[in-house]
Amino acid sequence: MSDIEDKLVTIRRRIRDACGARERCEDDVRLLAVTKGQPVERLREAVAAGQRDFGENYVQEALPKVTALSTYSLCWHFIGPIQSNKTRAIAEHFHWVQSLDRMQIARRLNDQRPRTLAPINICIQVNISGETQKAGVAVTDLEALANLMVELPRLRLRGLMAIPARASDTRSQRQTFAELYRLYTALQEHGHALDTLSMGMSGDFEEAIAEGATLVRIGSALFGPRPTH
Ligand SMILES: *Cc1c(COP(=O)(O)O)cnc(C)c1O
Repeated sequence: MSDIEDKLVTIRRRIRDACGARERCEDDVRLLAVTKGQPVERLREAVAAGQRDFGENYVQEALPKVTALSTYSLCWHFIGPIQSNKTRAIAEHFHWVQSLDRMQIARRLNDQRPRTLAPINICIQVNISGETQKAGVAVTDLEALANLMVELPRLRLRGLMAIPARASDTRSQRQTFAELYRLYTALQEHGHALDTLSMGMSGDFEEAIAEGATLVRIGSALFGPRPTH
C-alpha cells in the first residue's frame, strides 16, 4: 500500500465513524483531496488509490496538473481566492468553484463558461467568522448573492463553503459549523436546491460532519505538511 493509499483508507474510516456517530450515511460526505503545493506524482498516487475529487487554490499551479491527469475522469474544484483575470481559465478547466464570494466574479464565470460544458457547480464562500480581510461574502450579503445565481444559467448553485477562524476549543468550533448549517438550511427553505455544505479540514472534519458537512476538504492529513512556496 502506498503512503497516500494508507492515509486515504484512514481518513475514509474516520469519515465513516463520524457519520456513524451522528447516524448519518457515509455516502453523504464527499472527500475532497486538497493538493496545493503537491507535485502531480502525489496526485497520481491518490488517483491510483481511488480518489477522484481534487481541490486546488492557484490557477497557474493547477492547470498543468489538470492537463497531466486528463486521461482520468477526475473532478476539479477551485477553492482559492479568485482574481478577475483568472476567471476564464477557471470557467474552462474546473467542474466546481467553492470560493465564489462576489457578484462580479459570478457574472464573469457565467459569461466565460464554455457552452460545450455543463454549468459549473458553485459553492458560495461565507466569511462565517466575520473576520476583516478574509475571503467570503458577509453573512448579511449571502442571500442576495445566492439569489443572483438564479439569473446566471451557466452557474449551478450547489451550496456553501467556509474556512472558520481557528477556535480555541471544539465547542466553539462546532458552534461555527452549526451556524453555517443554519444558513444553508435557511437558503433551502427559501427555495434554493442546495446539496453541498463544504466545511471541515484536516484538523476539524469530524466536528464539521457532526454539524452537517456534506463535503470535507483534506490536505495535510493526506499528503503531510505542504512544501513551502
Ligand atoms: C489548504 C486548504 C484546505 C486543506 O487544509 P488542511 O488543513 O491541510 O487539510 C482546505 N480548504 C481550503 C480552502 C484550503 O485552502
